[in-house]
Amino acid sequence: MTSYWLSEPSPPRRDVEVDDPEIVVVGGGVTGCAAALRLAESGKRVRLYDGRAVAEGASGRNGGFALRGMPAAFDVTAESVGEEDARTMLAWTERAIDTIESLAGDSFRRVGSLRLAVDEEERDELRTEYEALVAAGFAAEWIESFEPPLAGRFTAALHHVPDGVLQPARWVRRLAALAADAGVEIREHTRVESLEELGSATVVVCTDGYPSGLLREIEGLIIPTRGQVIATEPVPERYFEVPHYGRHGFDYWHQAEDGRIVAGGFRDVSFDSEFTADEQLTEPVQTALHRFVNDLMGRELRVDYAWAGIFGMVMDFLPVVGRVPGLDGVWVAGGYSGHGNVLGFACGELVASAVLGNDEPLLAHFEPGRLLNLG
Ligand SMILES: Cc1cc2nc3c(=O)[nH]c(=O)nc-3n(C[C@H](O)[C@H](O)[C@H](O)COP(=O)(O)OP(=O)(O)OC[C@H]3O[C@@H](n4cnc5c(N)ncnc54)[C@H](O)[C@@H]3O)c2cc1C
Repeated sequence: MTSYWLSEPSPPRRDVEVDDPEIVVVGGGVTGCAAALRLAESGKRVRLYDGRAVAEGASGRNGGFALRGMPAAFDVTAESVGEEDARTMLAWTERAIDTIESLAGDSFRRVGSLRLAVDEEERDELRTEYEALVAAGFAAEWIESFEPPLAGRFTAALHHVPDGVLQPARWVRRLAALAADAGVEIREHTRVESLEELGSATVVVCTDGYPSGLLREIEGLIIPTRGQVIATEPVPERYFEVPHYGRHGFDYWHQAEDGRIVAGGFRDVSFDSEFTADEQLTEPVQTALHRFVNDLMGRELRVDYAWAGIFGMVMDFLPVVGRVPGLDGVWVAGGYSGHGNVLGFACGELVASAVLGNDEPLLAHFEPGRLLNLG
């Protein structure tokens, strides 16, 4: 079965050819399309390659949550990068959500997101994050009472007010169409096998968890990790307009526009087997997802779509953006640890800005060479 998001037909896109590109982008997901758009708007001759079609990687296979911030909670990020830089990062991703909203049309809805606590320990963690957000001046709400079907299941929730939800494939296909309008040539179904075949062009590798074979020393250090998702038959009750996620993000679900419950996660039921770049579905995770949704809704729901995608995990939960160590003229943006819808867009723009020669202070924290020391 395929991704529910990708089952929608692609919109038309301008056919563009670029001779002798100055910059080649590898990867046609949200990162590559955002980078290519920004570079073309700055007057560069840009060609983008994808081994599949636009959005057929994680960008068209994810949960659709458009979340601000880094993969780790705000207070945890502040511990690792410092209070001021954590604030800068959060504000930067909030601005990225504003830009997504301005470009995405009906593929984005600004509904907020609900991070749920299943037990006292998670509740304490969320409360700490909530207090840190409010103290730093960011919008957040604390919720302690729930209507069915959430009542009795969760002890509290942190409402991230500026977040939203995407039809992610529709969004990234739209972004690709904008890039083509700006003059980007998009070559689909063409895998780049080596840097040598790209001649002297500057290369920007935007492949997140999908191994590109192009990153030399840091290849594999953005760890391919499988996520599995299901979409049920349409449900008439509308309980989950907002992205919901609990158990430290291991379970996540919401309702698509047509009422289907889209649920993903449960990697932890067979943790080790999910560190892979293979998109195969597995019985333990699929069963756990189906059981979870049936339990939540109090009845058996049919699963109409089930799929997997690969995201790139990084041990310090910060993205990887900058020059690839040991390779002249090669840049990378990826490693969002399952949090790449907004962060991928922001990092695509960031890497493009850096390639254009702008000074980008955030790159100090996202430096690819650090992966060699992370273990
Ligand atoms: C199941 C799942 C659920 C997720 N849920 C969420 C969520 O709800 N919210 C969120 O923020 N994030 C989520 N993520 C993470 C998010 O989807 C990704 O971080 C993001 O889409 C990465 O975008 P990207 O453009 O960097 O990479 P991708 O969209 O993965 O695109 C990479 C592309 O590179 C291509 N490629 C690789 N190597 C080559 C090569 N050598 N030559 C040519 N092409 C190549 C691949 O074909 C692929 O299309 C989820 C991920 C998964 C898998």
